Amino acid sequence: MADQNDRRLQPESLMMSYGYKPELSEGAVKCPIFQTSTFVFRSAEEGKAFFELAYGLREQTEQEELGLIYSRLNNPDLEILENRLTLWDGAEAAAVFESGMSAISTALMTFLDPGDLLVFSNPVYGGTDHFIKHVLTRFGIQVLGFRPGEELDGTLERQLAAHPQAHRLGMIYLETPANPTNALIDIARLRALADAYATPERRPRVAVDNTYLGPVWQHPLQHGADLVLYSATKYIGGHSDVIAGACLGSAADIKAIKDLRTFLGNMAGPWTGWLLLRSLETLKLRMSRQVENARQVAAFLARHPRVASVHYLGLIDGSDPQQQAIYEAQCLAPGAMVSFEIRGGEKEAFAFLNRLKMIKLAVSLGSTESLAEHPATMTHAGVHPEERLSYGVTDNLIRLSVGVEHIDDLLWDIGQALQG
Ligand SMILES: *Cc1c(COP(=O)(O)O)cnc(C)c1O
Repeated sequence: MADQNDRRLQPESLMMSYGYKPELSEGAVKCPIFQTSTFVFRSAEEGKAFFELAYGLREQTEQEELGLIYSRLNNPDLEILENRLTLWDGAEAAAVFESGMSAISTALMTFLDPGDLLVFSNPVYGGTDHFIKHVLTRFGIQVLGFRPGEELDGTLERQLAAHPQAHRLGMIYLETPANPTNALIDIARLRALADAYATPERRPRVAVDNTYLGPVWQHPLQHGADLVLYSATKYIGGHSDVIAGACLGSAADIKAIKDLRTFLGNMAGPWTGWLLLRSLETLKLRMSRQVENARQVAAFLARHPRVASVHYLGLIDGSDPQQQAIYEAQCLAPGAMVSFEIRGGEKEAFAFLNRLKMIKLAVSLGSTESLAEHPATMTHAGVHPEERLSYGVTDNLIRLSVGVEHIDDLLWDIGQALQG
């Protein structure tokens, strides 16, 4: 929340104006697309001053702001977008990237050195899983995975204590709710575990991929996380027409991440920044409608005789007290991702997907249109079958991302595809 005439406005009220000064852009009510690679300095002295700050050659004075230099370092569309993104999560700062994967990989590389240990939850997004297991390990980073629940029953604590590189714990990386099972992980528990390994020189970071519920329905920084990561391709973009990512955290951590971003050159371009500014204006509206629809879709599926089980945060109840406690502590709404097991196997799952008429058969999520996919052979095809089954990614599991369509049309389409 930010102050405007002494009133603290809510994020959805600020998405149309925050951080943008019309008087700097001919009075345009909307932020233009600053489609420019470079920016003119008013004097050589100014250019020198900007570079001194950009390269950390001297401390910033109170009134000084980092001036515009070159669009790999900064651009008004990205800066305004970054400022607006901080409001939802209550973060000090944000960095925007050209994809969710570049936000994740840059954040991991910023805080991990050869010989360090990374602890991570399973299952994580397929691209993240690959980057952790096959790229970070090439640079001498050790990795230790755990499953939801193992942070609570002592298993992870024991495994970490027994790990030869435990004294070099650099980061704990989480995805909660997990994709595609909606399993929840206790962020505060992992904060405490990270703190137990802190030294005077170093505090292990806790990073949370908040793509599945954020930025509206879960705020990991409030539960002890240091960094929040997004595939902005999903809810934030929300229209399946742009690939982007973001990382949020303290000003110091985001500065370190932006320093690496400058040299990897994986910032988003101004056109992407502008599209996301536009998307943010309707973020709360879209997500609210999506949750409303998803609740009804999940209830419909739970009653259907051809459905064996439904995994939806809105259906967690007292039968699973651990998950219920985490849900109540961490989540503000159940989100719009519903997965369910159809009775049968791959054949029945494929028949359902092929019969859908309005809902599109595609990966990705969080968009205005509803999408359906088969995790075992699509998003999670790269995961070893035995491991995949142990996370509950079975051959009869279908994942739905519920959009903003009329609920009657959604239930009709799912109903007719189940009948077939
Ligand atoms: C899509 C996704 C990513 C990767 O984001 P891209 O924008 O495709 O690079 C990371 N994490 C989660 C949970 C995702 O759904």
